Amino acid sequence: MNRIGIYYAYWTHDWDADFHPFVDKVADLGFDVLEVNAGTIGNMTSEQRRSLKAHADDRNIGLSYCVGLTKQYDLAAEDKSVRDNGIAFLRTIAGAMGEMGGGNLGGIIYSSWPATLPAGVTDKRPYWDRSLASMKEAIKAAEDNNVFFNMEVVNRFEQYLLNTCAEAVAYVKAVGSPHAKVMLDTFHINIEEDFFSEAIQTAGEHLGHFHIGENNRMPPGYGHIPWTEIGAALRQIGYKGDVVMEPFLMPGGEVGRDIKVFRDMSVGLDLDAEAAKALQFTRGFMK
Ligand code: MN
Repeated sequence: MNRIGIYYAYWTHDWDADFHPFVDKVADLGFDVLEVNAGTIGNMTSEQRRSLKAHADDRNIGLSYCVGLTKQYDLAAEDKSVRDNGIAFLRTIAGAMGEMGGGNLGGIIYSSWPATLPAGVTDKRPYWDRSLASMKEAIKAAEDNNVFFNMEVVNRFEQYLLNTCAEAVAYVKAVGSPHAKVMLDTFHINIEEDFFSEAIQTAGEHLGHFHIGENNRMPPGYGHIPWTEIGAALRQIGYKGDVVMEPFLMPGGEVGRDIKVFRDMSVGLDLDAEAAKALQFTRGFMK
């Protein structure tokens, strides 16, 4: 049985948050996993990290970690000092996660978010090569801390490097570490791939983490994403990892701004009740 999780920012306007209340909330709602902001974890003290991990253990909640690296940490940047900053930041995060027992780091950890190619540039190969060289250095910190780096495939409007699962598989093969994995997200698959099942099959044994969300980033069950096909494909490849929903409904704050929620999609909805409903829906198609 795959563990089912939810991303804390469903409930917040800011990326930084105290995760303790969310450990209790998601445990009370019946989830197995809480996904948190890896940057925040990296900035916490060891004592704060131990306390959060103890709380999560106490509530039988697993933790996963997500980050979209900002520009100053871009692993694909032309400027070597920027790339070195990014590698150092990933090492900090891996070390912090190691203190909490390790686990999955996912997101845009191979470049920066959001990002596009500079005007006039059409060949992304130099960016790919620089990202890969940086990741080959950073991945050692994952290996040393029982951490897995999951490269999230995202749509073209957010990033340019890994827009398809095939690209991500080529990337993680080139990194050449069992701690480098592919991460897929149904919201992004819906934009870039021909077929959901084909993308999941392409990932195969490389799939390390899986985000779910509707085409409009509503909770699973509200849109037109083919959940039955997705559940079947995940079973077919023998995926044993976590399935984490990442709905975004509220405009405003850093989260609404960065996710581009320009209308209130939460009108008339109780966020906790919707999360519980989406959890049952997800357990249904993951059976
Ligand atoms: Mn995602």
